[in-house]
Amino acid sequence: MIETSETQGYAGPDRPADDDLSRCTRCGLCEQACPTYRELRVEPDSPRGRVFLMKQVADGAAGIDAHLAEHLYLCLGCRACETACPSGVPYGRLLELARYQIEERGEIAPERRGWRRFRHFAFEQLLPNERLFKLAMAPAQALQRVPWLASLAAAIAPGRLRRLLDMIPRNGATHGALPFEIPAEGERRARAGLFTGCVMGSLFAHVHESLARVLRHNGCDVIVARAQWCCGALNLHAGERTHARAMAKRNIDAFERAGVDFIVLDSAGCGAAMKEYGELLRDDPQYAQRAHDFGAKVKDVSELLHDLGIRTDFGTLKRRVTYQDACHLAHAQRVRMQPRALLAQIPGLDYIELQYADRCCGAAGVYNLTQPELSAKILEEKLDAIEETNADYLVTGNPGCHMQIQAGLKRRGLRTKVKHLVEVLDEAYSQPKDM
Ligand code: SF4
Ligand code: SF4
Repeated sequence: MIETSETQGYAGPDRPADDDLSRCTRCGLCEQACPTYRELRVEPDSPRGRVFLMKQVADGAAGIDAHLAEHLYLCLGCRACETACPSGVPYGRLLELARYQIEERGEIAPERRGWRRFRHFAFEQLLPNERLFKLAMAPAQALQRVPWLASLAAAIAPGRLRRLLDMIPRNGATHGALPFEIPAEGERRARAGLFTGCVMGSLFAHVHESLARVLRHNGCDVIVARAQWCCGALNLHAGERTHARAMAKRNIDAFERAGVDFIVLDSAGCGAAMKEYGELLRDDPQYAQRAHDFGAKVKDVSELLHDLGIRTDFGTLKRRVTYQDACHLAHAQRVRMQPRALLAQIPGLDYIELQYADRCCGAAGVYNLTQPELSAKILEEKLDAIEETNADYLVTGNPGCHMQIQAGLKRRGLRTKVKHLVEVLDEAYSQPKDM
C-alpha cells in the first residue's frame, strides 16, 4: 500500500469535468465489465470506485494523492466500463485527465520513481522524435527479419526481456517503405490517407502492406502522407498532453497537405486517439476546428471497407478464424459488427465466435510492462477462450493486443496465429477462386 502524501485538488483547464463526473449514478452496472474489479474484487479498483475517487477530488473532499494514483494506474484504460454504463459516463476522458492531473503534481508515488523516469524519457524524448524512436526499434526489427534468432534470444533471455522478445511479430521480410501514392485498381472510390504510426510502422510494416493492397483493390488511391508520425495515444493514456498535442498537430498538418477523403488506420488505439483530436485541441484557436474536421475523417479500415461495400472477388480461404475485439475498437470507437461482417464474406472461412471477445487481453498500451502480474492473469482467461476455438487464426486490430496474445499463445504452445483483419482479406483475395 502506497502511503498518502500531501493533497491538493485539480488545477487548470485539463481537469475531469464536474458534468462528466456527475453523470455517475453509482448503479454499479459497470462492475462486472471491469477486468481489474473481476480480478481484485475491491471497490477502488472498479470503474464506479475510480469515478468516486476522481469526484472526491473535484468536490474538495480529497486531494490528488498516492491513493488516487495507485488505483488510477491499476486501471487498464480498456473503456469496457464506458460501453457498459447506461448513464454515458465518459470514463476514458476522465481517466486521461485525472492521470494528467496526477502527473502535473510531480512525485506522489515514491516507489514508482524508476518507472517515472523511464516514462518521462519515453513520452517526452522517444515517442515524439521519429529518428530516435526508429533507432530504438532497429534491434527489434533486425530480430524480426531473422525469426529463428528472435526465438533463440527469447529462449535464453531472463524474465521480463524474454516477455519483450516473445512479443516481436515474426513476419519475415517486407518490401521497404511504401511510396507516397499507390493508385486505385479500377474505378476510384476514395482517396485514403494511410496512417503509418510508430509501433505499427516499425514492427507491422507487413500489415501496412496488406492494408495498402486491400485498399487499392477496393478502389482507393492510397496516400502515405509525408511528415505524419505517432498519434500520441500512449502519451495521452499516461497523462502526458503537451507532446501529445504537438504530435496531433503534426498529423493534422500532414494529412491536410495530402488532401485525403479519409485517414485510414489498422491500429485501434491510434484510431481512437485520433478521432478524439477535436477534444484534445478544443482550446487551440488555430487547430480546434481543424482537429474536429480531422477526427471526422478518421476511420478504422473495417469501417471504411464496410461503408464503401467491400469487393467480394475473394478466393476460397479454408481457415478456422476467430475474432478478438480490440478494446479501443469495440469500446472507444464502438466498431464491432464491421470486422465480423467482412470476414463473413470470405468463401470457405469457418468463423467461430470467441467467448468474451470484447474483454481486454491485458496488453493495454504498456500495462503488460508496468503491471505484469495482473496483465498475465487477465491474458490467461483470453488464452483459455482462444484454446477452446482451436482456430487457425485469431484476428485482432491493434498492435498491443497482437503482441500480447502472440506471446501468450507461444508460451502455451498453441498453434493459433495472430493476424490483422487486412492480412486475412489480403490472403483471401490471393486465393484461387472456386469454379
Ligand atoms: S477502463 Fe477498464 S480497467 Fe479501467 S475501470 Fe474501466 S473497465 Fe475497469
Ligand atoms: S455504470 Fe456508469 S453510472 Fe453506473 S456506476 Fe458505473 S460509471 Fe457510474
